[in-house]
Amino acid sequence: MDTVLLNNKEKDLEIAAEFIKKGEIVGIPTETVYGLGADASNEAAVRKVFEAKGRPADNPLIVHLADFSQAVDYTSAIPALAYKLAKRFCPGPLTMVLPKNDRIPMITSGGLDTVGIRVPSHPVMHRIIELAGRPIAAPSANTSGYPSPTSADHVMRDMNGKIAAVVDGGSSEFGVESTVISIEGESTARILRPGCVTREMLLEVCDEVIIDHAILHELEAGQKAASPGMKYKHYSPKADIIMVEGSLEGFISYVGEHNGDSVYSLIFDNDRDNFPYRYMTYGKDSSQQAHLLFQRLRELDDIGAKVVYVRAPETEGVGLAVYNRLIRAAGFEVIRI
Ligand code: AMP
Ligand code: MG
Repeated sequence: MDTVLLNNKEKDLEIAAEFIKKGEIVGIPTETVYGLGADASNEAAVRKVFEAKGRPADNPLIVHLADFSQAVDYTSAIPALAYKLAKRFCPGPLTMVLPKNDRIPMITSGGLDTVGIRVPSHPVMHRIIELAGRPIAAPSANTSGYPSPTSADHVMRDMNGKIAAVVDGGSSEFGVESTVISIEGESTARILRPGCVTREMLLEVCDEVIIDHAILHELEAGQKAASPGMKYKHYSPKADIIMVEGSLEGFISYVGEHNGDSVYSLIFDNDRDNFPYRYMTYGKDSSQQAHLLFQRLRELDDIGAKVVYVRAPETEGVGLAVYNRLIRAAGFEVIRI
């Protein structure tokens, strides 16, 4: 199949929406990362998404809507807290897990009786949902396990020949996937996957916000994941990623002891002065780190890095999302110095 590269003008968005209506799949920019969009209500289309990504069948897809008011069409119950959260955070990078109804096929929800609902703010994704007039299932548009794509070029590299089209909408604003939450009781949210809607932001609306254990810890054998994606090795480039927690001085001496051919460091902008080894930087604060992380992981592969020591980000605010992606990219290999 020839994968068509589309632009973000109305005429091309109409072409993208036609593909979706016909059961084809399209790479679409969103404010988080690029998604692989398909009609969420069309089983055959959704099957193509799992095939193109090589995604395990039990890893559910998030369903994207143009407006939260449409959630009633695809769910069987919506708690009052979900409406309050939607008022504050939709459209935007928040996914709420809600009980699904029959209009969402089991293949879309990975066999679960719940569905993740998100209302994206990116004008391109938003317009394609409107034009297609369908709920759009869209996981990140990468090959399963590899870092998520934050540009049309990343999507092309992973999906060329496997999907109908990619819409180029420039580089993704946030750079990490949406915050995924479930709702417990009257006023509690549980974060299943951290993102740019942070715990602190959710606390503006919820009385309590729980950070699921699996966000920072590896699941024990046989333990059930509240968020199925959490049990897979994820976000991982070909290079071996090792997170190093501690001071810059400690980091430099650790890298010095383990330096060699094809060894790189991924450090903060402020670490750059006099850093003695091969390095790339990934920003000066958590938001920049989120924006740059996946791009840098792909670039490190491109330059042939075999081992990458990464300065560990903080776990507050958006930093939690960056830390969560890195600890999975590292297969939970963290050196504490
Ligand atoms: P991605 O599609 O790559 O952004 O990954 C979506 C992630 O959202 C999945 O890996 C799950 O961990 C999570 N997710 C989606 N739907 C549900 C659901 N119904 N219940 C729990 N987690 C979900
Ligand atoms: Mg993904």
